[in-house]
Amino acid sequence: MSEKKKLSLTSRIVIGMVAGIILGTIIRYVAGDNAWVSLYLTNGLFDVVGQIFITSLKMLVVPLVFVSLVVGTCSLSDPSKLGRLGGKAVGMYMITTAIAISFAIFSAVLVQPGSGIERSSEASFEANEAPSISEVIINLFPDNPINAMAEGNMLQIIVFALLFGISMALVGKPGERLKGFFDDLNAVIMKLVVILMAVAPYGVFALMAKLFTEIGVEMIGSLAKYFLLVLFVLIAHGLIVYPLFMRVLARVKPGIFLKKMRDAQLFGFSTASSNATMPITLETVTRRLGVSNSVGSFTVPLGATINMDGTAIMQGVATVFIAQVYGLDLGIAEYLMVIMTATLASVGTAGVPGVGLIIGVDRLLDMTRTAVNVTGDAMVSTVVARSEGDFDEEVYYDENAGKKLEEL
Ligand code: ASP
Repeated sequence: MSEKKKLSLTSRIVIGMVAGIILGTIIRYVAGDNAWVSLYLTNGLFDVVGQIFITSLKMLVVPLVFVSLVVGTCSLSDPSKLGRLGGKAVGMYMITTAIAISFAIFSAVLVQPGSGIERSSEASFEANEAPSISEVIINLFPDNPINAMAEGNMLQIIVFALLFGISMALVGKPGERLKGFFDDLNAVIMKLVVILMAVAPYGVFALMAKLFTEIGVEMIGSLAKYFLLVLFVLIAHGLIVYPLFMRVLARVKPGIFLKKMRDAQLFGFSTASSNATMPITLETVTRRLGVSNSVGSFTVPLGATINMDGTAIMQGVATVFIAQVYGLDLGIAEYLMVIMTATLASVGTAGVPGVGLIIGVDRLLDMTRTAVNVTGDAMVSTVVARSEGDFDEEVYYDENAGKKLEEL
C-alpha cells in the first residue's frame, strides 16, 4: 500500500454519485437532444455500465443468501432458537412498519400536501388483492428449491436453507465435512461482494449520469409539497426513529450505526433496490455492526423481502395526499384501517398503488425510501442479535471492523 492515505470507499462512491448527477444534469440541459450523446453515452456507455453493476449485485443475492444462511444455521448451538428468532424479527419488522406509516399519515394530515392541487384526470385505484394468511404461510415452502432459486423467491430460499442447515447440524460427521465446504463457498462469495463494492463508484456514477439525463427538478412541479413531505418523513424516520431503537433496544451509541450504514445506504439510494443492496447490507451487518452470521444471514434477507418502512411511509403520505386531492374525507377509523392493511400487506406482498398522479417524482423518492428500507433491516438485525446474545459490541465500536477483509 502506498503511503498516501486512500480515500474511503464511502467518499469514492459519493464522488461518483455527485459527478454522475452533475454530468447527467448538464447533458439533460445542454445536449438533451443530441443523437450522438444519447446513443453512445446515455443509452450506451452509462446504461451498459450501470445495468451491469446492478445485475452483478443481484447475481450474488441467491447464492449469497443460501450459502450464508446454511453456514449460519448449521453452526447454531440450538436450532430451536430459530423459531424465537423468526418471531422476534417478523414482530420488529411489523412494529417498525406500523410506526413508519403512522408517522407518515400523521404528518400528511398535518401538512395537507394535497390541498390546492387541481385534479387533472380521474384516478383509477387498483388495489392488489392481498393473499390470505394461509396462502402466505403455505407459499413459504418451496415444492422445488431450484425453482425457488431460479425465481429468486427469497422466503422459499430462506426456508429451504434453514431446513438444510438444521439437517447438517443434526447429521453429525457428514454435516461437519459439508460445513467446511460451505464455509469456503461463503468466503468466496463474500470476496465477490467486496470486489463489486470496489468498483461501485463507477457503477454509481454511470447509474446517476443516465438517470439525471431523464429527470430534473422541474418535474416535481405541483407535487413539491408531497415530494418534500415524503422526503422529510423518510429522513426523520432514518435519523430519529432508528437511532432511538438502537439506543433503547440495542443499547449502543446510534451515531456509529449511522456512520457504518453509509455505504449500504448509498448502494440502496443509487440502485433503488433493497434486493440488489442485500449483499452490502449483509456485509455491513455481520462484519461491521457485530451481528453474528447466524442472525444476520437470516434477518437481512427476510427484512429485504418483508420490511419496507420507506415504502410504507410513501404509501401513508400518498393515501392522505390522494384523498385530499379527490376531496375524500377520511377519518381516524379509515386511517387505522390503512395502517393495519399496509402493515399486514407488507408481510405478504408489497402492493404500492400504481397511481399516475405521483409517478413523476417517484424515482427520486424510490431511491430515498430504499436507503431507509435497508437501514431498517440493519437496525432490526442488530436489535434481534442483541436480544439473543449474538451481538459483538467490540466489533460494533471498532471503527475499522471489517475493513481488513475489504482490501483486495
Ligand atoms: N425500491 C424499494 C426497495 O427495493 C421498494 C419500493 O419502495 O418501491 O426497497
